Amino acid sequence: MLRNEEQQATPEFFEALNAELMSTLPTLEGAWKPRFVFGLQWHITDRCNLRCKHCYIDRAPRRDLSLQDLLVILDKFCAALRGWQAAGRIVLGGGEPFMRPDLWELVEAISAYHQRGYPLRVDFMTNGSFVTDQVIQQLRTYRGILGVVQVSLDGSHEEVHDSIRGPGSFVAACSALKRLRDAGVPTAIHFVLTRRNLSDVDGLLELSAELGASRVTVSRLVPLGRAEASDMVTTDELRECWTRLAAMAYVYRRRGVFLATGRCDLWHLADLEGALITLRLRKKGFLSPLLAVGQRCPAGINGLTVDVDGTVYPCRRLPIPIGNLLQDEFFTVWLAPLLNDLRRRGQLLKGKCRKCVFATEEDLSVLCLGGSPCQAYATGGDLFAPDPNCWFDPSEGNEKVIVKWRQNSF
Ligand code: SF4
Ligand code: SF4
Repeated sequence: MLRNEEQQATPEFFEALNAELMSTLPTLEGAWKPRFVFGLQWHITDRCNLRCKHCYIDRAPRRDLSLQDLLVILDKFCAALRGWQAAGRIVLGGGEPFMRPDLWELVEAISAYHQRGYPLRVDFMTNGSFVTDQVIQQLRTYRGILGVVQVSLDGSHEEVHDSIRGPGSFVAACSALKRLRDAGVPTAIHFVLTRRNLSDVDGLLELSAELGASRVTVSRLVPLGRAEASDMVTTDELRECWTRLAAMAYVYRRRGVFLATGRCDLWHLADLEGALITLRLRKKGFLSPLLAVGQRCPAGINGLTVDVDGTVYPCRRLPIPIGNLLQDEFFTVWLAPLLNDLRRRGQLLKGKCRKCVFATEEDLSVLCLGGSPCQAYATGGDLFAPDPNCWFDPSEGNEKVIVKWRQNSF
């Protein structure tokens, strides 16, 4: 079945993309039934106590927006949710978001919207350094809208993590995760895969289980800001690492740790059978056995990133400005030509992707559609070039598994 060029973001695609998030949203009487979940990754400060080697920020911290300005952005976002009848997942990050003294006033404003019937959830991205007992107490106060607190861990050992993030940061991150767990606050771990920590990634799943994190996301480094291209893993290293992790994911899933393997990172190539089974289950309305095995880049479809000065990007790892929510209306930004191009990426893809089943067949294109445009852009300046780490050769194919899929035998 060939993909309909006009409808790449099909209803089924939206459904699969949002199924897990929907199930984790706080419920609220009187709220509208959300048609989908829209994610806003919101960087509310550049300030940070660490200077990580792969940080996307490589300049002196810019001035924070005032609380009043943040509330203008929040109002615009919530008006868009109402217009769409969508739910909102706001992810507050930085810099280090817990360094903003007026953070809780912003969270209170989000909570007030929630109380007025807006289905909202708030997550935090932190390095863990400022997760004091007082902060945990505040988080518990907002448990009605709280999703997860995601802590960055770039190694399962102090030596590896601290060599990337600085002395003392491993102990601080682990301590934060333990205390959050003990206080009943859901946690997640984010790991940026580089040549510096490639061999340490296996231990991460075990550590995550010990620390009680419910989700682990492993993302490839994108060479932006302070991150250097020489720290990126090679295609062979990625293939070997992804294949190993994909097998481990099933084991740890049983121990309550989801490996968020599918986020636009070529995971379907490591575990195609798992990806296709997951896809079939989703079509039947079940949640995937893993968090998500295989998922095309959702940029331009159900999320945006807002930077510290209000500038909007399609994604934090694709920092091409498309507007500013202090001056522009939300829907003006949402109609930016760049987002339209990302939405019709299937027609604009180049090179081997043009002949690949993971870009040309409707069902299978939800797994990839060119891989990560941010990687292609950061390494070669072309959003529509094939993912530089893709090891799939469309002329060889993986016929056995794909034939099984076409015959409906998954
Ligand atoms: S060739 Fe392109 S569409 Fe096919 S798997 Fe690789 S990146 Fe994805
Ligand atoms: S731009 Fe990159 S990081 Fe962002 S959603 Fe797309 S593939 Fe993922």
